[in-house]
Amino acid sequence: MLSRENVTREALSGLEAQRAANMMEEKRRRAEAEQKSPAVAALLARRQRLFFSGVRGAFASPQKAKEISGSMQREMEDINAQLRAALIDCGLPEDYLQPVYRCALCRDTGYVGEPVHEQCSCLKRAVMNRLYQAEGLQGLERENFASFDESIFPDEPIEGRKLTQRGHIRKIRAYCEEYADTFAADEGKGLLLCGRSGLGKTFLMNCVAQRVLERGYSVVVVSAYKLIEAMRRFQFGEEGVEQVQDMLSCDLLCIDDLGSEPMLRGVTVSSIYHIVNERRSANRAIVITTNLDSDQLYEKYEDRIGARLTDPSRMKVIPFIGVDVRRFAAKV
Ligand SMILES: [Zn+2]
Repeated sequence: MLSRENVTREALSGLEAQRAANMMEEKRRRAEAEQKSPAVAALLARRQRLFFSGVRGAFASPQKAKEISGSMQREMEDINAQLRAALIDCGLPEDYLQPVYRCALCRDTGYVGEPVHEQCSCLKRAVMNRLYQAEGLQGLERENFASFDESIFPDEPIEGRKLTQRGHIRKIRAYCEEYADTFAADEGKGLLLCGRSGLGKTFLMNCVAQRVLERGYSVVVVSAYKLIEAMRRFQFGEEGVEQVQDMLSCDLLCIDDLGSEPMLRGVTVSSIYHIVNERRSANRAIVITTNLDSDQLYEKYEDRIGARLTDPSRMKVIPFIGVDVRRFAAKV
């Protein structure tokens, strides 16, 4: 796993580059507006003169500084109002010459809060996503809705049904895409993708993760095996506290292959309960793939977990059915 320090440093230098790009964009917009409208150019020049004369005046006469800044402020407001009107007149938005930044909370500095300086959510999200992309999302770039190929699923009726396997997966894919496109943090709606191996569950979970990531949310994708490993280390006082916090606090947690993890006494069931329950109380969503059906979930993890994972008000249970398609395609 990449070290959090390095990833944070990388993210901060990314923000520095972003701030430089913001300044370039501000310059470009200013030049564009000045070229489009002589009125805008004149007002900007006037504003600048006013600013410098105000600064000079305040230096020359410190006792009058307050008076000067008061009258300067009024004039400044007047110029700004004219500027907004002139921008609209030449077909630009009225806030076109306002400072440019991607994150309104920290203005791309990565930090918020006075006097307590803390990391902005955008920085935390960038670090988290980078850490877990390196850790668990291998192949995520390849596994997305655009590369999802339904033609590898047989177009023959599933045993005992009218629907073909391809028709079935097409429906699931549409549902998952809609879910990812309308995903919102703190709604707490999750997916339980269940069925045998080789039916496309993990692929579709990765598609969802990728799309939700692209939409700017924090996403942690982890195998059930690694989840239990992290919880075990945490429980026994070794490192791992940050990883556990990430799994609890990210906007979307994706757990792959629940049921394949080792059943460690005093660790596995209580860890899964803890994660599922904490996220549920905080209205944070989980997407899970598993080879187990709901009866088996109840059996393996006790009723309290089974009930939470299949609660229809919070989880959409999606059964994958048909034949294993891995023999048709190298990768599903
Ligand atoms: Zn921010």
